[in-house]
Amino acid sequence: MNITKSEIRKLPKIDLHRHLDGDLNLDLIYKLIKKSNIKFTGKTKKDLKNYFINLKNKGVVNLFQEGFGLITSLMQTSENLTTVAYEEVRNLYKDNIIYAEIQFAPQYHTGESTYYNHEKTDKKMDYEEIIKSVLAGLKKGEKDFGIKTNLIIDIGREAKQEVGIEIAKAAINCIKYGVVALGLATNEADFPPELHKQAFQLTFDTELKRSIHAGEFGKQLYKNIVTSINELKADRLGHARIIAHYNDLIQLVKEKIIGIESCPESNMFIGLIKSRNEINIKKLLKQDVLVSINSDDPGMFGYTLTDTIYRLGKESKINFNEIKKLEINAALASFLRHNEKQALIEKINKTYKGLSL
Ligand SMILES: [Zn+2]
Repeated sequence: MNITKSEIRKLPKIDLHRHLDGDLNLDLIYKLIKKSNIKFTGKTKKDLKNYFINLKNKGVVNLFQEGFGLITSLMQTSENLTTVAYEEVRNLYKDNIIYAEIQFAPQYHTGESTYYNHEKTDKKMDYEEIIKSVLAGLKKGEKDFGIKTNLIIDIGREAKQEVGIEIAKAAINCIKYGVVALGLATNEADFPPELHKQAFQLTFDTELKRSIHAGEFGKQLYKNIVTSINELKADRLGHARIIAHYNDLIQLVKEKIIGIESCPESNMFIGLIKSRNEINIKKLLKQDVLVSINSDDPGMFGYTLTDTIYRLGKESKINFNEIKKLEINAALASFLRHNEKQALIEKINKTYKGLSL
C-alpha cells in the first residue's frame, strides 16, 4: 500500500463500531475529574497520562477494569453524558469520519457507580433518561460539526436477564428519539449470546436493528457467531474475527446479508491476534462479504480510525480500491435509511474518484 497516513486521514470514513466510553481523550477526562467528587490520586494532567500509561503496561485486564472504571465514574450524570457525547462528535470530526454509529451500555451510567468512591448522586437515572442525555450531546455535535451519527444501545452481557429486558424496552421507547439498534457487548466467553435472547426477541417486531459482539474472545467463537445469527437475528456482528476461516460462516453471512464490523486494531491491542492477516480482510472482500473496518475503543487504546486503516493496509497489503470498498460496505451495512446510504456512497465515490494514490 502506498497511501500515507495523512492521505487516509483526509478520506471520508465511516465507523460502525465505536464505544462512547472507549473514546474520551485525556483533556476531557481531566476536565471531568476536576469537576467531580471522585477520589483520584493524581493532581495534574501529566499524572493522568502516566496513570493510563501504567495501566497499559500492567496489561489489558487492568486497563479494562481500572481504566473503564475511572471513565464510567465520570459518566454518571445527565450533564456529563451529554458533554462526553458532544466531545465524541468532535473526535469524529478530527479524524474526518463522516458518519458513525456510537454505542454504549446505559447500565453503567445510572448514577450508582462505585468505582473510585464516586459519591452517589441524589437521583438514580432511568435508562431512557440516560439514553436521551447521550442523544442530546450527539445531536448538538451533529449541528456544530456537520457529521451524522446514530446511537446503538448495548446490553453489557454480564447484566441479569431482567436488566437486559429493561434496556431493550428503553431502547425501543427511544426509537423516536434516534436509537437505531440494540447491541450486545462485553465478555462473550462467560456470557454467551443466548443469555439475552429474550431481550433481543422484543426487538423482532420493531424498527430496531441488532448488532452483536460475537467471535471476539473466548473458546466458543464459532458457536457464538451462529447463535447470534440464528437465535438473536443479528443484522451485524461485532468483530467476528475468525469468519474468514470458515466457508460455511462466509456463506451464512452472505446469504443473510449480515455486516461484519471488523476491529483489527482493537484485536491487536488486546492481543487476540498476532497479525492483522489472521482476519484475512482480503479474502472477505474477494468473497463479497459485507465487511467494514472500525475502531472499537480508539481513545482508550490510543489510536484513531485512520491508524486502524493505515496499519491494516500496510500489514495486509490492502490497496486503495479495497479501502474504498470497505467504506462502501460500511455505508451499505449501516443502520441508515436507504436514501441516506445512497448519499454516503455518492460522497465516497465522488471523493475517491480521480484520486490516483
Ligand atoms: Zn466493541
